[in-house]
Amino acid sequence: MELTDQHQFKTEEEFSVIMDPFPIMVRACFATMEKCYFNSAWKRFAGDVGAFSQEIHEDFRLEFDRLLAAQVKLRTAFKTRYKFRDAVGVYHWLAEQAVPWYSAEGDFIGFICYALEINELVDAVNDQSSEKAFQSSDIIEPMSSSIILKKYAEDLNSANSQLLRSNQELAISEAHFKFLIQEAPVAIGVLHQRDLIIESANIKLLEVWGKSSDVVGMPLSVALPELQGQPFLEILDQVYTTGQPFYANEIRAMLEHEGELKEMFFNLTYQPKADFSGATADILVVPVDVTNQVNSRKLVERSEQHFRSLADLVPAKISNALPSGEVTFFNKQWLEFSGMGFEDLRDFGYHRMMHPDEIAGFQAGLAEAAANGVAYVSEMRFKNIEGKYIWHLNIASPIIDEDGRIMMWVGSTTDIHAMKIAEQRKSDFVSMISHEIKTPVTSIKGHVQLLLRVLEKETASALTDRIRPSLTRINQLLVQLTELIADMLDMTRIEAGRLDLRKEPLLLDVLIAVVVEDFRLSHQEHQFNLNLESGIEINADRHKIIQVLINLIRNAIKYAPKSDVIDIFLTTAGEEIMIRIRDYGIGIDERDQKKIFERFYRVEGQNESHYSGLGIGLFLAYSIIEFHGGKISLESSKGKGSTFIVYLPR
Ligand code: ADP
Repeated sequence: MELTDQHQFKTEEEFSVIMDPFPIMVRACFATMEKCYFNSAWKRFAGDVGAFSQEIHEDFRLEFDRLLAAQVKLRTAFKTRYKFRDAVGVYHWLAEQAVPWYSAEGDFIGFICYALEINELVDAVNDQSSEKAFQSSDIIEPMSSSIILKKYAEDLNSANSQLLRSNQELAISEAHFKFLIQEAPVAIGVLHQRDLIIESANIKLLEVWGKSSDVVGMPLSVALPELQGQPFLEILDQVYTTGQPFYANEIRAMLEHEGELKEMFFNLTYQPKADFSGATADILVVPVDVTNQVNSRKLVERSEQHFRSLADLVPAKISNALPSGEVTFFNKQWLEFSGMGFEDLRDFGYHRMMHPDEIAGFQAGLAEAAANGVAYVSEMRFKNIEGKYIWHLNIASPIIDEDGRIMMWVGSTTDIHAMKIAEQRKSDFVSMISHEIKTPVTSIKGHVQLLLRVLEKETASALTDRIRPSLTRINQLLVQLTELIADMLDMTRIEAGRLDLRKEPLLLDVLIAVVVEDFRLSHQEHQFNLNLESGIEINADRHKIIQVLINLIRNAIKYAPKSDVIDIFLTTAGEEIMIRIRDYGIGIDERDQKKIFERFYRVEGQNESHYSGLGIGLFLAYSIIEFHGGKISLESSKGKGSTFIVYLPR
């Protein structure tokens, strides 16, 4: 449609006939400003407009009225921008271009104005303030209506191409986004409508489903028929109808992969997406495959179950604890012994069952073992269901990981009560028998010594000459027997924890010299080299210290059959006194060195008849020194002799 320069319309009807077909807003504005004709585009936009300038935003109204008044005088074309209220009361930015309107007779009637809604453009240049956006008195050369319309068409085109460009950009970024989703390492899909049509499924989701992209567009129940009988379709339906999302961890699914049903586990999210009306349109499906984690955990659980059933089968009491000490398992034997359930035993039972005398030692021993990463072995009592304390051998073993850290503790606790009682009885018996023997032996010894004294006074005869050596030998053997009995009694006293010491001040060099002097008399072929620091005084039990020295020197003689040299040193270092007794005999293998101080321990393989003994000498020596607050250590290697070192506090 072409517009003529002369707007040959006199009435509003004529205006409408000409202007209504235009898609842009056109109005004919009378110079008197009292009314306008509006085409239908204007009417659609603004509804019924009364006084035109009243619908202009108040910020622009005054400016607009002034401009129009000026233009009525000038009668030239002009452009302006302002905000105008639409049919529902919302203001829009309008750009208007006006050309003068003349009648056929050539009279000036007013202006024909073409308006364009420019909200988006204004938004695009939102750095411009609204004041700046208003351009007053933007006078342009008079143009024909057709030129103006053409120009608007161009403007529209450029706006369109801008729109096209942004559409393209949008399409590119959408493609990019889709690509990201498609390639995402997490399975993602969208199910459409209540039929759960697979609208999209990324590569990972297809992999999880074990399906190809052919399933896109199919309902889920058709694409994955194996879901029938599993809870998922029902859950999805609920998500669809309630609009509530669904989350679940480690949910089990059977999915068909290459013709076989495969057990898989997922952390599942079903997220509904509502359409504009608020109803669910799609469901976003995000199943995170946790099959491997679940399976390896199950494996651990199974092996733990295996350990537990095994632990229930053994007769020992077995427990399992974290590095922190928190117990995670007591086997059947523990529960039966205590008569408690697992929780009670863990929370308070275990410590309550221990004998009060042993708790502190146990805790200290365990702490030390933990610090060194070694097992802690102890003999201790636990109270049984009847309240009776039962002796156990308790072994707490750390399980160490590859970095050397303690992963857990395994406790094995064995009932040794019967053994302990038998041992106690044995010990009581030894104690009793030693006492029983001691009395007659002492008496025999008295009689022998009496006979020896009587013999002294007799004049020598064949009879006295025959009797004397035998009596002397009996006397020597009785001394040995008395010592043995004394040793046995000491041993039982030490076991019972009561070795009475009669302490007195002693000069050690003098004491050692006296003991060695006796040995020199009885072992004249031996060479005793003494190197004694003089003036060292200690407060100790004279008889007991002599007993230790005799034991050590006797061993040095006994276990060095091919050497007759024994070196004895007495030295001090700070607050410590050291007595060293060194022989050049058979020596002691390293693996035996720790054990030789144990009761009844004798190094194996040595001919019993060659080296007679009971294996209590070193035990006594060690215990006596321990009772004095000292210790004995050993330096030795097999075949090269031994040095026993007695340490005593000053
Ligand atoms: P006994 O000598 O009665 O066997 P001890 O308790 O005195 O008992 O010694 C325990 C064991 O230690 C001995 O059987 C012996 O094997 C070893 N032993 C002790 N002293 C020495 C030593 N000086 N040289 C080599 N072995 C020794």
